[in-house]
Amino acid sequence: MMEQISVELDNFSESPLYKYRVDNEYYPVIGEGDLDAKVMFIGEAPGKKEAETAKPFCGASGRVLDELLDSINLNRQSVYVTNVVKDRPQDNRDPTATEVAFYTPFLRRQIDIIEPTVVATLGRFAMDFMLNNFKHDIGRLKISEAHGQHYQLETDEGTEFIFAPLYHPAVALYNGSKKVVLLQDFKILSKLIS
Ligand code: URA
Repeated sequence: MMEQISVELDNFSESPLYKYRVDNEYYPVIGEGDLDAKVMFIGEAPGKKEAETAKPFCGASGRVLDELLDSINLNRQSVYVTNVVKDRPQDNRDPTATEVAFYTPFLRRQIDIIEPTVVATLGRFAMDFMLNNFKHDIGRLKISEAHGQHYQLETDEGTEFIFAPLYHPAVALYNGSKKVVLLQDFKILSKLIS
């Protein structure tokens, strides 16, 4: 089933980002890791390096993510990592609402396949994606208040799972105190899956 998603994304010429992908000989970035993972990490969108290699979080933010995973004895093989938007937006700009909408069905299917115990979102876009796509009574969240907390979400079929919003690892690249916060939040995350 994940293979089918990969084929569909390869051929996703309806996407507003498809022409940019083809013109630059980029790849879509589907996601990577254990299809039976307990924890699924969702970022925003691929950067240049990711679009050149088809691998999520393989640049500077990815190195931070690896360090955070390592701090709780996890690695890329034991989790699943993907993004809300699967193609690189031009010049690393934020994805538009239209682009998010185009890729939404794919990520929803990926969550259905993996059935994670915990979905950990990296940054505001993925946090909002989860709030917009699953049932809850949380209301809106601000990432500055929600990071390190965890919430219950429910699928349309009534399956409950844990939602843990985290800062995006890129914030640690220019703000050392945010790195400390991320390390603390990963400790909390590790308790949720132990
Ligand atoms: N930032 C993201 O949100 N995702 C990636 O895959 C890389 C950087």
